[in-house]
Amino acid sequence: MSEVVIRPTTAEDWWRYRDIRLEALASAPAAFGSTYSGELDRTEELWRERAGNPRALLAFAGDVTVGIAVGYDDPDEPPESRSLVSMFVTPAYRGHGLSTRLIDAVAAGARDDGAHELVLWVTDGNEAARKRYEHSGFVATGHTQPLPHDPTAMENRMALDLSVKSILTVGIDVGGTTVKAALVDAAAPSVVLARAVAQSPDPGPDAGAAVLAAAARLVDELRGQAADLGLPAPAAVGIAVPGIIDEPAGVAVFASAFDWSDEPVRDELSRRTGLPVAFGHDVRSAGLAEWRIGAGRGGDNVLLVALGTGIGAAVVVDGRLLTAGGYAGQLGHVVVAPDGPLCGCGQRGCVGMLASARAIHHRYAAASGRSIGDVDGAREVAALVAAGDPVALGVWSDAIDHLVDMLVAAVTVLGPRRLVLAGGPSDAGELLVGPVRDRLAAALTFQRRPEVVAAELGSDAGVLGAALAAAALATAVLSAAAVGGAAGPVPLP
Ligand SMILES: [Zn+2]
Repeated sequence: MSEVVIRPTTAEDWWRYRDIRLEALASAPAAFGSTYSGELDRTEELWRERAGNPRALLAFAGDVTVGIAVGYDDPDEPPESRSLVSMFVTPAYRGHGLSTRLIDAVAAGARDDGAHELVLWVTDGNEAARKRYEHSGFVATGHTQPLPHDPTAMENRMALDLSVKSILTVGIDVGGTTVKAALVDAAAPSVVLARAVAQSPDPGPDAGAAVLAAAARLVDELRGQAADLGLPAPAAVGIAVPGIIDEPAGVAVFASAFDWSDEPVRDELSRRTGLPVAFGHDVRSAGLAEWRIGAGRGGDNVLLVALGTGIGAAVVVDGRLLTAGGYAGQLGHVVVAPDGPLCGCGQRGCVGMLASARAIHHRYAAASGRSIGDVDGAREVAALVAAGDPVALGVWSDAIDHLVDMLVAAVTVLGPRRLVLAGGPSDAGELLVGPVRDRLAAALTFQRRPEVVAAELGSDAGVLGAALAAAALATAVLSAAAVGGAAGPVPLP
């Protein structure tokens, strides 16, 4: 690369630049695909879809952090559009050094790739930004100019939305095998900026203290990662665990995995981290994320049913996520087969014993004569169903019948407009959703017929929901501080 140039940008350039950027995305090479942390994979995937190019590098969209497109030499093109970098950093991240890091990475990659010229179009008229890019090896050849004003253009909305304040939070999801943590910005809540993970403690009298210690360590680790990324320090923590969890009180009413009974988890983690903590239930937390930014977004009456070790639910009625002291949404313990297997809750034939991911796994193993350890969970059963295996089909279909029996009752009581199926089996998409939709439609008579969809956020839903709850808490704390008041306990948004 003989020269890197910052071009002056005019209003006319801006529109042309936008077209070039789209073109660049359509022809982007895969060379820099691994340059970044990999945390933006999901975003990148979305953008690849939009650009119609499976090799596009990184996405940008209204709610997304950064986007980069790199185009390469085409001798038929004029020089200024041959090799170029175009990049967006959403306003919330400007001034944190993220763009410099990304540009550095791209410039280094372009050099390695033998690009002879790399052009960066500066669009924000920002002298500080120009200096940063010079630091990355770009040479300024002119001055930047302000953007044209067109309130209908997404780019301009982004550019004008400079007042967005970045609130970073840590979401923690405590599962059976791992404790996952993610750093998330409230301004772009679907993007995980950094991750950390620890092993879940073995059940027992020490498990509660161990999981709190692990959570505090993960918060520290993500604080460090935020500093490394040049981002602000996290303002609050959200943590979600299985059990009977009273969110408004911040108390684990009962959580057998950690030997907790009436344990003030919120205050204890807050003491250990020095941050405000939003405490929540794992499935409600996932439900919160799906409701706000996933498959349930835009709805006021949403029922999320998660198929995991058991079956849990998050219930949104008239725009409120129901808690009921921690007892709402225990749909896995609706009895659908009075002579069925004994459940840990003491009842027989709970739907969680017949239609959860674990039940599908174990029942298939029993029906096929294979050992439980030999079957790769409900995932393998789903693959066998897709392949037409008759034993798997029988188990799958039975599970769906039991699930639908429970759903008819739930829909009758709650009247959801949208039913979101989550958990491992929902990864099978229409293989699960299709028959549930059909059988539910056949069973319902006068009830509202919910739209049946698969969850969108996958295994990130729990951490994202915890981070969203923390963001609501942090916002309340900030606004209370701004008016000189004290923030009380904040309900989930
Ligand atoms: Zn039960």
